[in-house]
Amino acid sequence: MAGKKSMRDLLIEELRDVYNAEKQLTRALPKMARAAHSEDLKTAFKEHLEETQGQIERLEQVFEKLDVRARGKLCHAMEGLVEEAKDMMEEGLEPDVLDAALIAAAQKVEHYEIASYGTLQAYAQALGEKEVAKLLEETLKEEKATDERLNKLACGDINKKAVKAA
Ligand code: FE
Ligand code: FE
Ligand code: FE
Repeated sequence: MAGKKSMRDLLIEELRDVYNAEKQLTRALPKMARAAHSEDLKTAFKEHLEETQGQIERLEQVFEKLDVRARGKLCHAMEGLVEEAKDMMEEGLEPDVLDAALIAAAQKVEHYEIASYGTLQAYAQALGEKEVAKLLEETLKEEKATDERLNKLACGDINKKAVKAA
């Protein structure tokens, strides 16, 4: 008789969601890097793409530690966030304004990831999965640092340039 799903099942389900979300991002970030006008923003997107590939590998290590197959489950939230980012690229915005919009879209993605990894890390901790929690914590730190970096770009000069754009 199949019982109700456990906290461990919930952890695995949510890991599959974020695994798929990261994979969607590896397809979206190159497009965002190409669309970006600021060299610093292009670099930030490219570097986070590399980081994202490492995060996917880290999730594969997590699945291995939990002794389950690395498999994704469509993340509808990331699908929506990526869709909105694509819409921004087609709005016909001034290049500097587009940069501001791309940063906003990317920060929404980072915030979703921060919420996801924060939760996952807490679940792993509660389940006594210390090594898993540690791996998830590493990714959480990267997402937070990326959010911070994007914030600095926006508040540094990108938003100001966008305001001045014709
Ligand atoms: Fe990520
Ligand atoms: Fe999701
Ligand atoms: Fe990220």
